[in-house]
Amino acid sequence: MYLPDFDYYAPPDLVEACQLVREFGNSAKILAGGTDLLHKMKHTELAPEAVISLKKLSELKGIRYLPGQGVIIGALTTQNELADSPLLHRKYRSVCEAAHNMANNQIRHIGTVGGNIVNAVPSADLPPILMVLGAKVKLVNIDGERTVPLDEFFLGVHQTIRRDDEILTEIEIPDQKTTGSTSIRFGLRKSGALAVAGAAVAVEMDGETCRSARIVLAAAAPVPMRARAAERLITGQQITPDLLEQAGAAAARESNPRDSIRGSAEYRRDLIRILTRRALHKAITEGHV
Ligand SMILES: Cc1cc2nc3c(=O)[nH]c(=O)nc-3n(C[C@H](O)[C@H](O)[C@H](O)COP(=O)(O)OP(=O)(O)OC[C@H]3O[C@@H](n4cnc5c(N)ncnc54)[C@H](O)[C@@H]3O)c2cc1C
Repeated sequence: MYLPDFDYYAPPDLVEACQLVREFGNSAKILAGGTDLLHKMKHTELAPEAVISLKKLSELKGIRYLPGQGVIIGALTTQNELADSPLLHRKYRSVCEAAHNMANNQIRHIGTVGGNIVNAVPSADLPPILMVLGAKVKLVNIDGERTVPLDEFFLGVHQTIRRDDEILTEIEIPDQKTTGSTSIRFGLRKSGALAVAGAAVAVEMDGETCRSARIVLAAAAPVPMRARAAERLITGQQITPDLLEQAGAAAARESNPRDSIRGSAEYRRDLIRILTRRALHKAITEGHV
């Protein structure tokens, strides 16, 4: 398996990167960690005329907190950097755990959060936990920038609202009242296997009562999917084991998973029921955001 021929660019700053991305349009591909892009190029699924690497753009790296606004994660931050970040451990431990539980150590060492989002596959691990935390993404091109809720980013498998000339530069997790969040995934192996199904949740509890809930399912539809019927079922309610069971069943009913080599739609639906119930229970009882 060899890579096809292509022109390689490693622009020194974001302005030059944006100029190149505009110039080449959809005949170029942006390279971050390359764990997905280079794999597709080696398997002849993609043969871009040019590859534009982001690796010199230090402004797209790192995690910081802006008081009164939220946590800002650079798009080039690797999954291991997310997993090991002391700042994230303090503010959003659930994001560290989601990053730690995905892929394998080699992939997490080079795979980036931006690549995991833009790649837009239903089983991706980071979009669900970021979506329940109300994350927004910043898209930049040579003319300016726009910030969009991650909730509105995905259109289908490998399809997003990102235009060909836009670079995803950062992810913002806004300050919030969430009292507990978590994500649980099921893979066929402990390491290096894509999720067969997953559920991420964020809740705001007031004693035993759920003030608000966000639930996002992985591998349950062509895009990371809000389980809105399940959310409605528990919002404003006193939480009981029976209600969590009902919420899991509601999430399974509203999901639309496909049959694939990793699991049938029916198997996935049953996983969604169980994972949603467990994730809600964990977020409510452990109380870690
Ligand atoms: C063995 C193996 C196991 C894996 N396991 C998992 C898993 O458990 N969970 C999971 O979610 N994924 C998994 N993956 C998939 C993949 O590694 C991840 O999706 C990874 O996060 C992609 O990030 P990257 O930086 O390598 O992206 P790249 O491969 O560099 O890019 C992916 C796509 O995003 C575009 N892109 C990247 N960054 C930007 C940006 N900043 N702006 C605009 N476009 C951009 C690229 O042009 C390309 O189309 C696995 C892959 C392998 C090979």
